[in-house]
Amino acid sequence: MCKMIFHIDVNSAFLSWEAASRIQHGEKRDIREIPCVVGGDSTSRRGIVLAKSIPAKAYNISTGESLFAAKRKCPVLEIVPPDYDLYTRSSKALFDMIKTLAPSVQVYSIDECFADLSTLPGIEENFMDIAKNLKDRIKNELGFTVNIGISENKLLAKMASDFKKPDRIHTLFPYEIEKKMWPLKAGELFMAGRSTTRKLERMGIMTIGDIARTDKEILKGYFKKHGETIWRYANGLEDSVVERPAEMKGIGNSTTLPFDVTDHETAHKVLLSLCEMTCMRMRQAKKMGRVFSVSMKNNDFISYSHQKKIFHPTDSTSEIYSIAKELFNHAWKGEPLRLLGLRITDLCPRENLQLSFFDSDSSEKERRLDETVDQIREKYGLYSITRSAFLESGLKPIAGGVHSDYKMVSGHL
Ligand SMILES: [Mg+2]
Repeated sequence: MCKMIFHIDVNSAFLSWEAASRIQHGEKRDIREIPCVVGGDSTSRRGIVLAKSIPAKAYNISTGESLFAAKRKCPVLEIVPPDYDLYTRSSKALFDMIKTLAPSVQVYSIDECFADLSTLPGIEENFMDIAKNLKDRIKNELGFTVNIGISENKLLAKMASDFKKPDRIHTLFPYEIEKKMWPLKAGELFMAGRSTTRKLERMGIMTIGDIARTDKEILKGYFKKHGETIWRYANGLEDSVVERPAEMKGIGNSTTLPFDVTDHETAHKVLLSLCEMTCMRMRQAKKMGRVFSVSMKNNDFISYSHQKKIFHPTDSTSEIYSIAKELFNHAWKGEPLRLLGLRITDLCPRENLQLSFFDSDSSEKERRLDETVDQIREKYGLYSITRSAFLESGLKPIAGGVHSDYKMVSGHL
């Protein structure tokens, strides 16, 4: 029996969630229907577009460009600030709903998941009706739209959900690959990054079909293992399982940077912002960790990481920050970075904490400081208290809060 995999992806997630929440709170107009973007820090030229409405897209505004440039394209553009608490809640409501239907759900990012429905009775005949019911239920009960991609594996389901948006269901079964996927530009293939696409173009490989029809060995010669991956994907070959990440094996966060990071000082600030969120979540879960890992991805999409194990578990932001800096300084090769991540594993319950000889007055003070900061943030919001290091930096003081426990560095299904 063949598999039946859905990939569910929220349309313009941040903007849709903001719009749905405003409507729920009585706002009459729908910001999805006017030129509007969600963007960080509109006072700084560095603030970027995180999500856009369809009318904003009509002005050629694209995700990732500066708010400054976007406003020049559309002077009446409305800019709403990001609200990560809202996104976390909206995301959870969505995944909870999908979990009531699907036996196996793999959260892939804040607004995307895979669901394996192969064992659902009658799925083979009724997958379209089941998808339509799910899509409409999300729209009616949660107030936002999704695209659903359907196929036999995760790769094809994900490619399918990216076809025409919003509020659509698409299938991409193996027999449809040639017609629906091969005519697309090479760069639209999952995992074909900008630098890979540029090299492919120089080889005369312009479409996904061109990749599929190129000799695998030639691609391997140029791109090593990555060449084999894109050849397999272009042919629709992928067989990983939809799996839920093990419960609390670790806590991790990563953040895609608004600009390439090229110096230690900025990288350290990003690490600090990741530490703030990760450590707070770990303390909320009443856990402490012993293994720390810092990962980075450069602008060629190559990822690497470095980790360290310590003897006494900790949940202290300042202690973990200094470990993260040390790991980063050791591992970074000096090239421009587009993503940084921090992951803490080997967790133990906090009750196990034994005051050791190594515990000093200062660590007790730090523990109280962390607790106080957490309480203020819980009561007044995440950004109610931030470190002065972030003023004027163009960086979020607390980063990656919305990626926790998902695959750290996306790119793997
Ligand atoms: Mg999305």
